[in-house]
Amino acid sequence: MNVSAHRAFSLLKELAYERVSCSAEERSAAQRLLQEALSIGVSAQIEEFKAPCGHVDHARLVVTAPYEKEYTVTGYERALPTGEDGLDGEFYYAEDVLPAHLARVKDKIVMINGPLRRKTYEKLRKAGAKAILTFSGETIDHESNSDLLIRKLRETLTEPFGSAVALNMRAADAAEIVRRGAKQMHIELEGESYEGTSQNVCAVIEGTTYPEEIISLGAHYDSVYFSTGVYDNMSGSVILMELLRYFAKHRPARTLKFNWYGSEEQGLLGSKAWVAAHADELNQHVLMINVDVAAATLGHNVAPVLATDAAVSYVDAVMREIGIPCKTKLDIYSSDCIPFAEKGVPAVNFCRFGAPGADFIHDRNDNLKSGYIDENALDITLRQALAFTDRVANAVLCPIERKIDKKIVDKVDEYLFKKEKDEE
Ligand SMILES: [Zn+2]
Repeated sequence: MNVSAHRAFSLLKELAYERVSCSAEERSAAQRLLQEALSIGVSAQIEEFKAPCGHVDHARLVVTAPYEKEYTVTGYERALPTGEDGLDGEFYYAEDVLPAHLARVKDKIVMINGPLRRKTYEKLRKAGAKAILTFSGETIDHESNSDLLIRKLRETLTEPFGSAVALNMRAADAAEIVRRGAKQMHIELEGESYEGTSQNVCAVIEGTTYPEEIISLGAHYDSVYFSTGVYDNMSGSVILMELLRYFAKHRPARTLKFNWYGSEEQGLLGSKAWVAAHADELNQHVLMINVDVAAATLGHNVAPVLATDAAVSYVDAVMREIGIPCKTKLDIYSSDCIPFAEKGVPAVNFCRFGAPGADFIHDRNDNLKSGYIDENALDITLRQALAFTDRVANAVLCPIERKIDKKIVDKVDEYLFKKEKDEE
């Protein structure tokens, strides 16, 4: 069939390094993907876009009373700096952001459970918290085998609610601070916010019969800090490359646009930028096909469809036809399908999720040494995506209507904070 999971996996191995938004490594991975696409003999190029970036020069937290101890922290990128002198304040552990908690956060350095979500941020800001502390990892982690996450204050938080001082620490340290009854602390944060450059890699195969009808295929190739992102999502990226190879030889009736998106992990920045830059052609887009996470040895196949029940039945029927078990469902998926669905372009995602105990994502364990991904498993998603793309790209009429259920439209709007959810 001219596709090879083995070849795909070799490319994955080559690109198994950290590829964070706007970094030199992300750039070099983009160039490697471009080079591969060009070697296939199709038209391809890099499309750059601007992305909000930040770096932290200095972050410090010291408990000053009733005991004295310094803890290792990371500063949130793009957070408010404290200035050289830092700031001192009373510590308060807000297990939640219920009114009873919020009544006590004013002018305090507030530690919360879990990541900083928009609703939580809004409530803490409005209640007058002086600074925000979060923690990551698990209380049983050891410094030698876990990383202290570097987080960012995204514009979805700071644009509506302003910037705040924010630090992240280890769960084990957070537990110690609470256990030992910390009352007063001193924190320092210095850093810089700037506009960085990220990029999408884009290739096109013109349709032979219905060139004006476009199906786009997407996979993000960036990773988070500390992660080599082989599962999330170099696996999807190399699957896309095999599809490009196949359709370059077997020209499709419809036009296929292949996009490897950068900066997905920072809030779908690559696909948002692509959709914005190609706004005038979006009415020609009949479908978006996205591959995000694959190759898990122990795992299962899921296809979230952002369209209609009829589309779900169609995807399911194709999977039954090729005999690959796949849980197909009408739902959104936190990936590059979202900006397309927002513009009315239906989307189908192919994912192979790792089973419990064999699923490492967004941390240092998403790497080849963890032994949880392999090329035979990658071949499953490759065959799904190929069979499905082949059917829809060559059908006389596109089997999926350009329609998205109200339920999905609402979920997309909530995801993009265009519509408020009642309560978290
Ligand atoms: Zn992903």
